[in-house]
Amino acid sequence: MRLLLMGAPGSGKGTQATAISKRYGIPAISTGNMFRAAVASGTALGHQVSELLAAGLLVPDVVTDQVVAERLVEPDAVDGWLLDGYPRTLGQVSALQACMAHHGVALDGVLAIIVPTEELLKRLLLRADIEDRADDTAETITRRLAVYHEQTEPVIEQYAASGFVVRVDGVGSVAEVATRIATVLDPLTESAV
Ligand code: AMP
Repeated sequence: MRLLLMGAPGSGKGTQATAISKRYGIPAISTGNMFRAAVASGTALGHQVSELLAAGLLVPDVVTDQVVAERLVEPDAVDGWLLDGYPRTLGQVSALQACMAHHGVALDGVLAIIVPTEELLKRLLLRADIEDRADDTAETITRRLAVYHEQTEPVIEQYAASGFVVRVDGVGSVAEVATRIATVLDPLTESAV
């Protein structure tokens, strides 16, 4: 099964990606996690992206597309994957399409977790208190939400235009949202696995 998980910062996408990964036995591939790991281990990629991450700005498509293309050919991703946080721009949509066409594979679904902006702000400010993420300051939170609105919502609209997007209400407990997602994905697994 090959899925995209879309959602604003603070929508709970990372948490739900982990749950989906376990339930369906596919790797959850998070570009945000890959970039944070690169920064933490001080690789060349990490040096390249650290300021952008800290500022809440997107890493250029050319860099992000390559990171994803390389990840998708690793052995654990051959039979399926869940992309968490990619594609985030229309350019990335084209790159992913080209990558998938090259490998002769297709998407099974696009899931968008929907959470109202006031709730996102509340969650992100709370997370800033709990985790020590460089991009969870009030200023970068506002910027990341604006970037999402400007660059990533058009991605959801584009997939929606091809009838691909299932929107899931992201307000509620982690378990409640996970159940909503499973209700959508369980029927897909029968045809896709
Ligand atoms: P996330 O954990 O998904 O919120 O991502 C954290 C940060 O990583 C983002 O604010 C961006 O700086 C960077 N990032 C993650 N995914 C992408 C992407 N698909 N395109 C560009 N930048 C990304």
